[in-house]
Amino acid sequence: MAIHLYNTLSGEKEKFEPLQAGKVSFYVCGPTVYDYFHIGNARPFIIYDVFRRFLQYRGYDVKYVVNITDVDDKIIQRSIKENRTAKEVADEFTKAYFDDLDQLLVKLPDVSPKATEHLDDMITLVQELVAKGIAYVLDGDVYYSIEKFQSYGKLSGKNIEDLQAGSRVEIDERKENPLDFALWKAAKPDEPAWDSPWGKGRPGWHLECSAMSMKYLSKDFDIHAGGEDLIFPHHENEIAQSCGSGNVKFAKYWLHNGFLNIRDKKMSKSIGNVLIVRDILKSYKPQVLRLFFLQKHYRSPINYSEEILEDAQRGWERLQNLFDNLNSIEIDSNSLQLKSLTNKEKEFKNFQERIKQEYISAMEDDFNTALAIGKVFELVKECNIIITRGNLTENQKLLLVNVKEFIVEVDEILSILDNDEHDSSGEEELSKVLDLLVGIRSELRKNKLWDLSDKIREELASIGYVIEDQPEKSIWKKEKT
Ligand SMILES: [Zn+2]
Repeated sequence: MAIHLYNTLSGEKEKFEPLQAGKVSFYVCGPTVYDYFHIGNARPFIIYDVFRRFLQYRGYDVKYVVNITDVDDKIIQRSIKENRTAKEVADEFTKAYFDDLDQLLVKLPDVSPKATEHLDDMITLVQELVAKGIAYVLDGDVYYSIEKFQSYGKLSGKNIEDLQAGSRVEIDERKENPLDFALWKAAKPDEPAWDSPWGKGRPGWHLECSAMSMKYLSKDFDIHAGGEDLIFPHHENEIAQSCGSGNVKFAKYWLHNGFLNIRDKKMSKSIGNVLIVRDILKSYKPQVLRLFFLQKHYRSPINYSEEILEDAQRGWERLQNLFDNLNSIEIDSNSLQLKSLTNKEKEFKNFQERIKQEYISAMEDDFNTALAIGKVFELVKECNIIITRGNLTENQKLLLVNVKEFIVEVDEILSILDNDEHDSSGEEELSKVLDLLVGIRSELRKNKLWDLSDKIREELASIGYVIEDQPEKSIWKKEKT
């Protein structure tokens, strides 16, 4: 079966056909770095990273981009309250974001572009829209005129009248249409601001994602994902900006994950039920939290409670126990191949092959991790029956080792096991990549490309790796926390 994805744009499950054979360009709306991750924030980063890994497992060369919104009202508000700069707030929580990703066993995106480092790209996009008459300038602000974009509303499936009636947009008499949104905001006192053709100011949030996705992927790319609360207005506006600027189709598949509730209630600061990921990880392993998320279909709402997390904990223990038992199976070096199988053994072999197929089919069917994990647990149950009976035959041992190999394969995508072997190989890989980056940076420095070499140093520092330039060579170190 081919991979099928539910595309919000068409409202249907579609066969996945990337724009370029064998390659996938994938963009996810990243965090606004003004606070620690709460458990609702964690969901998209875990699930979309799993989708990316599954696509890689199916042989695609995936480019995965997750932006960082480091200029925003919330960051500015916090900085004023705490009497420090917006940059200080953004830097602190950018680091916290990368730490949390690491704790949650989420692999780093290929690119994590920051909004404040892409002002030129954003300004160019606004200039194009102004030149085409799709955007208009008002006292240093620039607005997008939604009536100039015929398909406005196509993602959320609403027309302009519905949206006007349903949205709580602030009334600004100067705007041509109340739904017109700011591409560029004129500077207010004490706010971070950048020069632009319209005076000092800062970009609108929607603009950031249009500019950075098209820069790092291309104007047309495969998958754009985010929480369902982003469909309107954020993603609708991204489409308007990107497609309004020219002959652009922008993202082909739009994926949206469901909400997270806490004990059946919406999480909110006013109710006081906001749960910070770091706090949950004091009591539960990241694998348990991942299992909690992945045992639910990503498009369904998910409910968090201690009881549900305890369930996930018990499930994880069953899986981990089996894995540990499989790891301790010793095979006689004289019998590394299956000998003639008894009927029972044949039955088990067929069963495990069927489970593997069903697991893959479930993942290919709109990334149904819930069903896929259910299949793995069917296998866990059967293996436990065989192991509990004891007196394993050499054939049974070999079949169980096959199961172990399959579970390791599953874990490379889902990361739901405590698997030391696997973890340390990840560290080795990381250290090779860091060596490579430091080597490239040295070449850049030799060629006096200081901007690029500084950028590598700064980006690595923002994720906790410090480069030291020694007389003979440069080295990297993990920053002590
Ligand atoms: Zn976005």
